[in-house]
Amino acid sequence: MKKQLYEIKENIYGRFDQINNMLFRYLWDKRLKSYRNDFAEGMLKNIRLEKEGYSHFDYAFSKASWTIYNRFPFAFSWEGDISFAEDWYGYKLREIKYKIKDIEEFTNKIKKAAQFYGASLVGITQIDERWVYKSSARKIDNYHLKSLPLNIPQEINRVIVLVIEMDAVALSTTPTLIASAANGLGYSKVAFSLACLGELIRNLGYQALQCGNDTALSIPLAIDAGLGALGRNGLLITPQYGSRVRIGKIFTDLPLVVDEPDVAFIAKISSICQNCFKCAEACENKAISFESYPVFNGESISNNSGVKKYYVSPEKCFDFWVENNSDCSTCITACPFSNSNRA
Ligand code: SF4
Ligand code: SF4
Repeated sequence: MKKQLYEIKENIYGRFDQINNMLFRYLWDKRLKSYRNDFAEGMLKNIRLEKEGYSHFDYAFSKASWTIYNRFPFAFSWEGDISFAEDWYGYKLREIKYKIKDIEEFTNKIKKAAQFYGASLVGITQIDERWVYKSSARKIDNYHLKSLPLNIPQEINRVIVLVIEMDAVALSTTPTLIASAANGLGYSKVAFSLACLGELIRNLGYQALQCGNDTALSIPLAIDAGLGALGRNGLLITPQYGSRVRIGKIFTDLPLVVDEPDVAFIAKISSICQNCFKCAEACENKAISFESYPVFNGESISNNSGVKKYYVSPEKCFDFWVENNSDCSTCITACPFSNSNRA
């Protein structure tokens, strides 16, 4: 089933090196217009200009929404907190392997727990190594990075993918700081849900590697887990919330039943995106493809070429983020699937 989902030219495709993600690349690639852009300086300038949607309050509101994502140390932990001496928390639980009697029933229980912790949607898939990064990037300080090899233990063969819905009203103000707050809150909710679900899995005596945008490509994992399809906008489109979502994932050795990709929805999006250019027209920097058909090659090292799709220009997109002094959600809100429940 999965083989039909992607058309891949294996002679072009290579696992993605996270250092080539624009959020890291602008720190090292001197060829970029955005090389080492000073976002703090732009922020102070906007506040002085009293620009609507970019006021002191708006920046404060937006930055605060990222608190759990950026400041909670165990959000993306692969071990959780192992520093406690006492067992009031229940660490002894981890020494006992939970007995799973019925895998299907247990899988449903895990999905319900994920939703209880805040996930809007949950899907499960096997690990497809092609989506795992070749290496991951870490910041050493403001301007320096290092690449780390990724070693996922052999026994870990499932990925639980969590999707969090973002606030439609706040996003509708894109590209202001209020819309950015919806993104920040989305990411913080992902961090919260992942941290709780990861701890549950460890408390059952199994392994949980909590991941945000690190470790592997989230969109193909979400598609494999039956949560949606890839749109022309380069984002996951879910039947329930369109692209108005953030994604997190947990790699685990829990025995879980995997979901099937939603092939009917994937076919529907593929056909609609071919004739709909709303996201491409709405993008301020024309970063989204106007091609009539998907292609195998992107033009940038940040594209990860080799998969047949509509390629977004990461450089043009990021140049707008620099100009805007914030992120942007216009390709989310422009998509008709993002604002309604129609499937
Ligand atoms: S985030 Fe904004 S600039 Fe980037 S592709 Fe989407 S609409 Fe264009
Ligand atoms: S706006 Fe239209 S072309 Fe763009 S992702 Fe949504 S459905 Fe596809």
